[in-house]
Amino acid sequence: MIIREYVEQEKNKLKSLIAPLQLKPHLVIVQVNDDPGSNTYIRGKLNDATEVGIEAELIKLPITIEEAELLSLIEKLNIDPKVHGFIVQMPLPKQINEEKVKRAVAPSKDVDGFHPDSKLVACTPKGIVDYLTSEGVQFQGKNALVIGRSNIVGKPTAKLLLQKNATVTVAHSKTTSEAMRFYVAHADIIVVAVGHKYYLDRTYTYKKDAILVDVGINRVDGVTYGDIEPGLPVLLQTPVPGGIGLLTRLSLMKNLYEAYQNAISN
Ligand code: NAP
Repeated sequence: MIIREYVEQEKNKLKSLIAPLQLKPHLVIVQVNDDPGSNTYIRGKLNDATEVGIEAELIKLPITIEEAELLSLIEKLNIDPKVHGFIVQMPLPKQINEEKVKRAVAPSKDVDGFHPDSKLVACTPKGIVDYLTSEGVQFQGKNALVIGRSNIVGKPTAKLLLQKNATVTVAHSKTTSEAMRFYVAHADIIVVAVGHKYYLDRTYTYKKDAILVDVGINRVDGVTYGDIEPGLPVLLQTPVPGGIGLLTRLSLMKNLYEAYQNAISN
């Protein structure tokens, strides 16, 4: 099923689970930037929440705010029983340490899944694995290559694929180009999160039954491109736009519902 249809189907499932609830799941988004990209992402998340019946609230703070003030707001959200999950939209202004902020969010409410002890799986890896699973992809024993080792995409994706019993290689900017071509040619599943337009292209050799997952979002002259050239000769290739971005947003809604269920069953 194409990703847009899959996401609609999953959102409808969530909607029907939430519709009969008296107490609605409640999401808070904290924004401490004026970043146009963040504004777009936040609008998307608020729309998704409304669509599935989640109550969502945006707290926008001045970009001059001190780290201690933000940490104190996080502490309040951590203990507020009305709030089932919250996210602090990245990037943050320079005076605030992003890692400190990610670790301050209670693991039970960390719907982005950024905290090392989060009870929830990071949204992009979760979106990828849930979707591929719905497509009948088996992970066990497969050679998976993750290109990119960021804390929000590359590393958690590698971890999740390992949990699924794939044999995982993580490549990055210091991987030699010769080694990269070797890993690409032998991979069953390739997840690319580099941030370079068409990083993987026709000059590489692929297994013909390979699965290519394109996480990249590269805006060039107002047009969005992925990290993978479209139309490569493989079994499955996710599109950009209309691909992993939608799955990531879906995961956030699923994580919020899961955090809600955990909260009410405790
Ligand atoms: P990031 O923090 O900049 O990390 C990029 C990674 O790519 C780094 O690990 C870097 O290696 C590696 N890299 C850079 N140049 C390389 C090269 N020439 N060869 C091999 N590896 C190279 O980026 P990110 O946050 O993970 O995001 C990656 C992309 O995904 C971006 O386009 C971003 O916009 C997009 N994204 C999309 C979603 C979504 O929902 N679709 C979510 C998050 C991010 P080093 O570690 O050695 O520097």
